[in-house]
Amino acid sequence: MHLKSLTLRGFKSFASATHLQLEPGITCVVGPNGSGKSNVVDALAWVMGEQGAKSLRGGKMEDVIFAGTSGRAPLGRAEVVLTIDNSDGALPIDYAEVTISRTMFRNGGSEYAINGSSCRLLDVQELLSDSGIGREMHVIVGQGQLDSVLQASPEDRRGFIEEAAGVLKHRKRKEKALRKLDATEGNLTRLQDLLAEIR
Ligand code: ATP
Repeated sequence: MHLKSLTLRGFKSFASATHLQLEPGITCVVGPNGSGKSNVVDALAWVMGEQGAKSLRGGKMEDVIFAGTSGRAPLGRAEVVLTIDNSDGALPIDYAEVTISRTMFRNGGSEYAINGSSCRLLDVQELLSDSGIGREMHVIVGQGQLDSVLQASPEDRRGFIEEAAGVLKHRKRKEKALRKLDATEGNLTRLQDLLAEIR
């Protein structure tokens, strides 16, 4: 599995459609300070479902939409499309190439699609988490974050390993199932009370 391409439209400083073709192996992005190198990494995190404005170095989520410059008006939407080569089947989907897209409008609405079909954020997260790219995004290590990984507590470190191994998804599902069981047990108790009152 490798990232094949990334297309940005109206995302941060990339007002015009910008297509980046990526080859297997190491890719380096070089450019002067403030030219948008980190914005490319932010776009990658964002299209994979990142939900924290802070993780994207903004104050609020809509800060990812091109805010305008002296010569160009602000835009109303941001879109990022990521194409992943899945010829080794690392992603649990029956396609040799997987395209994930995310669009956000200034009114706050967000849309996701996998291979052109609309989907939920959860679908994107679940698709990626099987390949070790989890919702916590530890595959992206930002400037200055390396120290916090090295100094993490044993529990947090276990979390990183669990996420990379794809265990986190099952833990979350288990938590969700336990919450549903709890709610059902509550409903049953209430039902028994009602039945006792009727008798
Ligand atoms: P450095 O080498 O200093 O880390 P960089 O190449 O990583 O810089 P970025 O941080 O990616 O640069 O880009 C910063 C630029 O992106 C700034 O000029 C900022 O004004 C611009 N920018 C960020 N968000 C938006 C937005 N929503 N609309 C327009 N421009 C934006």
